[in-house]
Amino acid sequence: MTGVMVVTGASRGIGEATALAAAAQGYAVCVNYRSDTEKAQEVADRIISDGGKAITVAADVSQEDDVVRMFKTVDDELGPVTALVNNAGVVPNRYRADEIPYEDMAMVLLTNAGGTILCCREALCRMLPKHGGQGGAIVNVSSMSSTLGAAHYWVHYGASKGAVDAYTIGLAKEVAGEGIRVNAVRPGLIDTEMHARSGQPDRVAKIAERQPMKRAAAPEEVAAGILWLLSDEASYVSGDIMNIAGGL
Ligand code: NAP
Repeated sequence: MTGVMVVTGASRGIGEATALAAAAQGYAVCVNYRSDTEKAQEVADRIISDGGKAITVAADVSQEDDVVRMFKTVDDELGPVTALVNNAGVVPNRYRADEIPYEDMAMVLLTNAGGTILCCREALCRMLPKHGGQGGAIVNVSSMSSTLGAAHYWVHYGASKGAVDAYTIGLAKEVAGEGIRVNAVRPGLIDTEMHARSGQPDRVAKIAERQPMKRAAAPEEVAAGILWLLSDEASYVSGDIMNIAGGL
């Protein structure tokens, strides 16, 4: 067994691809999701039918009690986490900055940035030597929006991912001497349901041609980068934010 991995938001998209790739490498995987029990169970069932080990845990990463319960469940059912992928994320509705409703702002910041910080806290309580842990590796899923800004429609989403970038850099420095590596990836345009769920079913088709590679990426192309950052091949890589954005 390679270790125990928690992948947040693993019921579809980049999280699903990451969970499947991790299981193929021998990780026991916690498939976290918020509400889509059926899809999450399908991901876990695929892992188990391929001979791997997986559990599903419903937990909203923006809620402290949910996050605490999830990591305790992982302790009990798989053992303490050794690898964490903070992938769960939401895109808000499209608003100009002068129109952003408080609820939208709170939801996107608490999920994308707050969820990352809460899940890291719980993982660190299992990974740090001072808590009896043996180190580990963390990858946070940011977005190119953190550098591009998402002006005119999603500046609050861009801000939430900017927070993820800064947190990744700071946390990496904080725990580098204690056997824990922390990195992030910044996906560009990835072909997932996220776009349709934000009310833009044709977004990928519409803007794929405008990407430097004239296409969107498959979620598996992001998962490959995440798995590499978690692997021993990246043993001297920490505090890095890897663009997986096709030259964007
Ligand atoms: P997706 O297809 O919409 O999947 C999102 C996943 O996150 C689902 O499993 C969903 O679970 C889960 N989730 C949402 N809110 C959650 C919460 N509060 N607690 C726990 N789980 C939650 O999204 P994706 O495109 O794969 O995106 C994954 C990550 O990549 C996100 O952080 C996103 O910001 C980032 N990203 C995506 C793109 C892109 O073009 N797709 C580009 C840059 C960055 P339920 O189904 O149960 O709600």
